[in-house]
Amino acid sequence: HINRAAKQLLSLGDDEDITFQQLFKRLNTDITLNELIYLEHYSVTERNTEFKDRVLNIQFAPLITEGKTADGVVVVIRDITEQQRLDNARREFVANVSHELRTPLTTVKSYTETLIENSAKDSMERNFLTVIDNETDRMTRLVKDLLTLSLFDYDKTSLNKAAFSLPELIETIIQRVSIEAEKHGHTLSFKKPENMPQFFGDRDRIEQVLINIITNALKYTPDNGIINIACEYKLTDVVISVADNGIGIPSADIPHLFERFYRVDKARSRQRGGTGLGLAIAKEIVEAHGGTISIRSTRGKGTVVTVKMPNFSK
Ligand code: ADP
Repeated sequence: HINRAAKQLLSLGDDEDITFQQLFKRLNTDITLNELIYLEHYSVTERNTEFKDRVLNIQFAPLITEGKTADGVVVVIRDITEQQRLDNARREFVANVSHELRTPLTTVKSYTETLIENSAKDSMERNFLTVIDNETDRMTRLVKDLLTLSLFDYDKTSLNKAAFSLPELIETIIQRVSIEAEKHGHTLSFKKPENMPQFFGDRDRIEQVLINIITNALKYTPDNGIINIACEYKLTDVVISVADNGIGIPSADIPHLFERFYRVDKARSRQRGGTGLGLAIAKEIVEAHGGTISIRSTRGKGTVVTVKMPNFSK
């Protein structure tokens, strides 16, 4: 059975006879009736496809009768052309704006630096210039983060994969953040695992994920905190965890942490140079590696961020 709206959308003639299989083959959708009905766990399957300049979202749901077997499939087709166009326009806008902002920011930064060098120590002029310099750095970070995200919006697969040692990467990062950690009296500990197989992934991107998570642990932990980093294998997955004994996160906020610009403590995040994009970026990168990122936290006690990624190269 097919209703009139679907017929129109799919350009089917009034008395055209077409089977399920023929129809979805014509729509370039790699799905068969058997697959949908004989799946052990009946669930809704979704596909997006392009058909005659339209973008269609197709949802397949098995029709289950009292006998608990699927008798058929209900298919709902939505025309999402307009939604897709708006999404693309939004992404393009963000990408263009961030790109355009880079040059003026570099110019402001270099002139400010020159002026600072030529200003008298402890003068009001130098103080103001230092504020400009810090704020320019913050905008530069923001623009960089936005560009990273828009890159992932365009192409989720733009990864430069190679084999590398995760524990060594973690050690390098610890070294890089150690000055900041010492400044706040934090203790960073990492027990380097022995004989860990190489990980196959995009080293620079994974580095970005770990820096974001580790610097968060430093930022959101009061001075003299303890941060434990672990890296191990669980079956075929590599699991990295970063645990701190910091301010923690209220449970109501946890589901939103990976949203862009979501911050629990806005003032603290700004003050410590946060952009609100760190975890959103981490999630995109980890998911592009087929993994997951999760957060457990107790307010006032601390937070554990866990990254789990399959390692196919093993
Ligand atoms: P930001 O740049 O603000 O740190 P993130 O996307 O990295 O942005 O993190 C989002 C928010 O999650 C932060 O603003 C902070 O409120 C909270 N958060 C992240 N990590 C921790 C942590 N280890 N402890 C407490 N709060 C955290």
